[in-house]
Amino acid sequence: MPEAERSPVAPEILLRLREAAGTGGWVDAPDEVAPYLDEQRGRYRGATPAVLRPGTTKAVAEIVRICAETGTPLVPQGGNTGLVGGAVPAPDSTEILLNLGRLNRIREVDAAGGTITAEAGCLLANLQRAAEEVDRLLPLSLGAEGTCQIGGNLATNAGGTQVMRYGSARSLALGLEVVLPDGRIWNGLKRLVKDNAGYDLRDLFIGSEGTLGVITAAVLRLFPRPRQSVTALAAASSVADAVKLYAALAAASGDRMTGCELMSERALAFALHHLPGATAPFSRAHPWTVLMEFHGGAGDDLGAAVESGFAEALELGPALDAIVAQSAAQEQSLWRLRESIPDAQKREGASIKHDISVPTSRMASFTTRADQEVESALPGVRVVVFGHLADGNLHFNLSQPEDMSADVFEANRDRLSRIVHDLAVSEGGSISAEHGIGRMKQADLARYKSAEELDIMRAIKGAIDPRGILNPGKVL
Ligand SMILES: Cc1cc2nc3c(=O)[nH]c(=O)nc-3n(C[C@H](O)[C@H](O)[C@H](O)COP(=O)(O)OP(=O)(O)OC[C@H]3O[C@@H](n4cnc5c(N)ncnc54)[C@H](O)[C@@H]3O)c2cc1C
Repeated sequence: MPEAERSPVAPEILLRLREAAGTGGWVDAPDEVAPYLDEQRGRYRGATPAVLRPGTTKAVAEIVRICAETGTPLVPQGGNTGLVGGAVPAPDSTEILLNLGRLNRIREVDAAGGTITAEAGCLLANLQRAAEEVDRLLPLSLGAEGTCQIGGNLATNAGGTQVMRYGSARSLALGLEVVLPDGRIWNGLKRLVKDNAGYDLRDLFIGSEGTLGVITAAVLRLFPRPRQSVTALAAASSVADAVKLYAALAAASGDRMTGCELMSERALAFALHHLPGATAPFSRAHPWTVLMEFHGGAGDDLGAAVESGFAEALELGPALDAIVAQSAAQEQSLWRLRESIPDAQKREGASIKHDISVPTSRMASFTTRADQEVESALPGVRVVVFGHLADGNLHFNLSQPEDMSADVFEANRDRLSRIVHDLAVSEGGSISAEHGIGRMKQADLARYKSAEELDIMRAIKGAIDPRGILNPGKVL
């Protein structure tokens, strides 16, 4: 139903929802509701008559059933760390917010079978710890892991720093439990690595951003915990050399690289400037820096292999300088530099952010062209690039020129984003590598997806959620 035609949620519906949410599952005091309504970057602020926080899948199903029956729009929300406004209700207070935070039991950890079965509201960091306690690794790792929930990670098919080795959230999920838009529960909590029996419903719900169903639980894969890790930082003069460096070290380490993060000179300078106690890693600034992590087993020659890989890269050219961390403290301080970039950029004023991906072989041409085109469109714009090099995923961000007000800079948002997205697509890439579409990139999706793709997506939405109650106004 178009937002303009919606009416407020009737009091009798609210009464039924309150009962379905159960004890402790109802929040409507304005000061308690407020923290659920703001998107991370402050670009969207919603309103709702109530936040529902059910503690069981059955209660979620009953809530969705009431919403389906009454045509009441419902917005699923996890940790609300998403960056495209997907978990925030519309500002007209006609949508109910369904927060999954109380659905947070770990149902089973099967160390021998390499799986963990967890409810959607479990914090990602808690699941990582639960895996560690049985000497296993849950390799999904991202900056928001202390706040985001596994349901939100799956709903956005989250990536993070170890995708190159273990894949994104989709690759880690073996099974799902989902409340469908009519209130039925689909129990797909299988533990199968192989299952070709018909359409893959699991993969349909993963990445659907709360528009097709409410994920209530999942079975995730666990891996052996690495016995040793090596972290290194290297400098390169161009993106092309950074890509060569990645390929050289991936080979030299025997394919034991698990993370490979690229930072531009300005991105690193912002981090060094704003991170308390940070010190420059090299004696001079370099155009590009690459942070790499390698994992190995007990008794591996990992350190020696990485050291000799860098020695060769320094001799042959793609590396200008390199440091291999000698202690856990040094490893952490190198990772802190990378992780502090988003916050450092915030401190530099207004920013326009992009989350694009291109084939790794096109990263050099994309960054060169995009850099030139945004600079000529808005002279003085400060380009800040960082991202997951091995995945071809770049946060090609723009900070306001030093001599321009935030408002004037913001007025250029659509024009500049159009340049960056057009270029990414022309290089065979995507406008959203990790964060999804949400509310923010709806128009972009319509612009860059083909008519065939959009038709199929709309048909799927119409078939599964014919009344359009789940997360309306998002994605499509
Ligand atoms: C500092 C920081 C670093 C980040 N780094 C990364 C990164 O490296 N890689 C990456 O991919 N993302 C990253 N993100 C984005 C964000 O953390 C991820 O998208 C995360 O997976 C969202 O999880 P969440 O629980 O916060 O979901 P929310 O923000 O609450 O929701 C996101 C979307 O999923 C839907 N949703 C949430 N829970 C459910 C559910 N149970 N069932 C159905 N739909 C649901 C919502 O409706 C919404 O559309 C980062 C964000 C921050 C703030």
